[in-house]
Amino acid sequence: MPAYINEIFNSIQGEGPYVGVRQVFVRFEGCQLHCGYCDTPQTRNVSGSCRIEKTPGSGDFYTVKTPLDRDEVAGLIRQLWSPSTRHVSLTGGEPLLHSDFIRTLEIEYPVYLETNAGFPEKARELKDMVAIASCDIKLPEHDSTDQYAELLKNELETISIFNETSSTFVKVIILPETTKQSLSPAIDGVASIDRNIPFVLQPVTSSTRVSSLKLAELMDFAGEKLKDVRAIPQTHKMMNLL
Ligand code: SF4
Repeated sequence: MPAYINEIFNSIQGEGPYVGVRQVFVRFEGCQLHCGYCDTPQTRNVSGSCRIEKTPGSGDFYTVKTPLDRDEVAGLIRQLWSPSTRHVSLTGGEPLLHSDFIRTLEIEYPVYLETNAGFPEKARELKDMVAIASCDIKLPEHDSTDQYAELLKNELETISIFNETSSTFVKVIILPETTKQSLSPAIDGVASIDRNIPFVLQPVTSSTRVSSLKLAELMDFAGEKLKDVRAIPQTHKMMNLL
């Protein structure tokens, strides 16, 4: 079964606790959500083409038609691997929409999955092949869905599934309008699974900044129930990386 992929390239992870780690990124197309802050809106729908980096880290691309089959993708990942590269980052869009394809992907490298965590049944299918799971929790103010309660329930179930077998962390985008009240269900939900799961507050990258005071207050609020709370911005944007 082939897959619709938007781009394949080698870069430096810019988010979360693995910031600075070199990865081959495979960005899948399609997403069931519509977050107001989305920085990859071009990946929400199928475009019919994929840009592929010519050499690792060059930022120089050529374009091929999609879908791509598993052997093509595995071959491209191998071509873009380099001595300091450590993981294959499956990202999007929403990679779990492509769980059937991912399950058949034969690659010898550790898989780092970046997911909005909305599909627990697909997480269950893939959990044994995921080394690191970066799971989002959306907040009501993200405007990601009309069924927020259901999304949150699914996200927490997905986190619980990956936490059994993978190194798992949670990422929450903080907007200027985020409050303790809007963040509270995410904190309580993660605390009920495992208080040790790293919980990353990522201030949104936009012209409207989240104040350092707000970030500090939200960290302390989360820190009352969780043991590993961090604030990490999008560093790849600072470095002008992909
Ligand atoms: S889940 Fe990710 S890709 Fe999907 S709309 Fe939200 S930010 Fe964009």
